Order: sequence, then C-alpha cells, then structure tokens
Amino acid sequence: MDVKKDIKAEKQLSAKGTTYRNFPMVPRVVFGADSFDQLGAILLSKRAHSDAPFIFLVDDVFEGKALADRIPLIFSDQIIFVSANEEPKTTQVDALVNKILESFSELPSGIVGIGGGTLLDLSKAVAIMLTNKGGAAEYQGWDLVQKPAIYHVGIPTISGTGAEVSRTTVLLGPDKKLGINSDFTTFDQVILDPNLTQDVSKEQWFYTGMDCYIHCIESLNGTYLNAFSQSYGEKALELCHDVFLGDISPEDSRDKLMMASWHGGMSIAYSQVGVAHALSYGLGYLLGVKHGIGNCLVFQHLSEFYPEGVTLFNKMIAKHDIKLPTGICSNLSDSDFNTMISVAIGMHPLWENALGPNWRATITEEKLRSIYEKI
Ligand code: NAD
Ligand code: ZN
Repeated sequence: MDVKKDIKAEKQLSAKGTTYRNFPMVPRVVFGADSFDQLGAILLSKRAHSDAPFIFLVDDVFEGKALADRIPLIFSDQIIFVSANEEPKTTQVDALVNKILESFSELPSGIVGIGGGTLLDLSKAVAIMLTNKGGAAEYQGWDLVQKPAIYHVGIPTISGTGAEVSRTTVLLGPDKKLGINSDFTTFDQVILDPNLTQDVSKEQWFYTGMDCYIHCIESLNGTYLNAFSQSYGEKALELCHDVFLGDISPEDSRDKLMMASWHGGMSIAYSQVGVAHALSYGLGYLLGVKHGIGNCLVFQHLSEFYPEGVTLFNKMIAKHDIKLPTGICSNLSDSDFNTMISVAIGMHPLWENALGPNWRATITEEKLRSIYEKI
C-alpha cells in the first residue's frame, strides 16, 4: 500500500522499457434513479436503419415484470430472455449469435444487456461474436479479438461484479473458465439505474456485493497496487463500509453499492484480483458454484492472506445474518480436488499479485486442498 514506493518502482520499470497498459473505459455512462427510461432516446441515434434491430438480452427474472414493459421496442427489435441460473458458457454465446444471425437479414444495430454479471457478460460476448468468425471459445484469453464488436449497452440490475466497466467477459468454455479480454469487450454505453436493483434478494445482494468488497481487498493488498488502482479501490471500500456496516437509507445503499461496483471494477482493471478469486474459479469450474457465493465461501478461510479483510467480512456476515452453505466439498474425490487445485494454481497473475513473484514458495497443492476441505 506504499504508493510512493510503487510509483518509484514503476518509474524504474519504465526506464527499463516496461509498457503500461492502455485500457479502454466505458465512453458514455448515465447514473440516476429511473435513468433506465432514457434508454429509448439513447438508442435512437444508434439505429442503423429499420431492418437493423436492437436485441435486448434480459435476465428472465424480469419476464412478465414491469421492467420488461419499459424496454423501448420499435421496428423489429427483439427481447431474448435468458436465465442467469448458471454462469455464461461459450456454447450459449454461440447459440445466441446463431439465433440472431438466422432471425435477421442484417446485423443488429446493437445488443443491450439487462441483468447481473451473467447477462452483462453474455451481452458483451454476443456483441463480439456477431462480427468475429468462429466460436467464442477461440477468443478466451487476452487480446485475441480481431474486429470491433457491434454497439453494446450494459444495464446492471444487481451491483458488485464490476462487469459493467471491465474489458472482460468471463465464460465457461469446453476446457477452461476464462474471459474474452479485449479492447472491444468494454461496453459503449452503460446505464446505472440504482432502482433496478430494488428487488434483489438479501442473500444475492450480499453475495454479489461481496464480490465488490473482495475486489477491493485483493486489489489494495496486492503487489500490483499502484496509485490508479488504489484511488478507485479505497473509494469502493469506503462505499462498501457504508453499505454493509453503516446505517443508511435503502436508497443511499443502492446508489452507493452501484458506485462501489463501478470503482471496484476500475480498481482491478489496473491491478488484479487475488487468492479468493483464484480458488473461487476452481469451485466454479468443477461444481458450477456461482462467482459471488464462491468468493464468499473461499474468503471466510483466508485470514492467513487477508487478516483485516476477513475480520470485517465476518462482521458483515453477522450484521446481515447470512448463513453461508457448508459441506460443499465434503464428498469430493481426490481427482475432484486435483481438478480444482489445478484450475486455481493455473491463475498465475492472481497469485503473483497476491504474493509476489515467489508465490510458489507459499502456495502448495496441500495448502489449497486444506482450504477447499473446509468449504
Ligand atoms: P447474476 O447475473 O449471476 O445474477 C444472480 C441472481 O440474481 C440471478 O438469479 C438473477 O436472476 C438475479 N437477479 C439479478 N438482478 C435481479 C433483480 N434486479 N431482482 C431480482 N433478481 C435479480 O449475478 P452477478 O453476481 O451480478 O454475476 C455473476 C457473474 O458475473 C458470473 O458469471 C461472473 O463470472 C461474472 N463476473 C464478471 C466480471 C467481469 O468483469 N466481466 C467480474 C466479476 C464477475
Ligand atoms: Zn469477482
């Protein structure tokens, strides 16, 4: 957390010829209660022509609900409801792309994702794959996308992942869970309407909100930390304090968690996540445990790495009376544990951020197994 030291280190690196990341940010963003109703006006100027529709990929939790009726459909625009019960898959992206290409003679004017991290990630991936050849699995990795995506808009309905601001879309592929990280992934437009998060269940609010909290802890305690990440991470952490430990109104809480998510995403954009995310990826890959809850399941056992962060996490759990599930790993075979361990250990940048270049000296297969066995 010593910024001066970091800046000095960066200068030294720079003199040695290091190139800093030049990453894209969301160019346009609206924030405010009920700002969703500006969507129609925003899309109007982006319509190619009447045969090029907007496709709205919408979490099916909103099917038959008032929000679906507020979607500004004109011409041949289409809503596709998608379940967020499972994390997004490359095959699901390919199927959506085929469906859209078969249904219309023209490329759509754009894709609008409405939902949590699952729908936001699916929308980003579909927008990319409408203009790039082959299947989504071929683009899991870093900077493999060749052509710009079509115009895409993200509208979060639950706060925490930072998917609304990131340059990645995390997908479960045939042999790995990995993002399509590219300059073309980032949304062209985001609408942050805190009122859309009003009906999220308490448990889901907590799990997805903790994703943001854990982003902050992992970024602020990582070796990749720099003044850019620190400034966003500290603000996000302060907002998480207010939301999860403070005494504020529901309206304030929704506003602040939405901005915490944004800042948390910005913080990791220029640093990296850490131990909880590496282990949570293993749980997600083998058991399909979703990101937010997976992070919580792991994080409770990480006092060795993040002592202050875990103490605060336990206070938040107690305050909101959250009962984390137990026994998730109790019936797993050796081969299952080995799969999770190898997925987790494979996340090299996350370990290096958490523990420095000699992370292998601390992180052994046995240590990871002992953490998984507690879950
Ligand atoms: P989610 O999208 O998986 O949704 C969780 C649950 O909340 C679902 O049941 C959904 O239907 C429900 N829900 C969403 N909005 C609601 C609302 N307003 N009212 C009632 N229910 C609502 O949740 P998430 O935690 O936001 O996203 C997790 C996904 O995000 C994972 O797939 C993870 O990999 C991804 N992720 C991506 C990034 C990134 O930078 N791209 C970062 C972190 C996580
Ligand atoms: Zn996360």
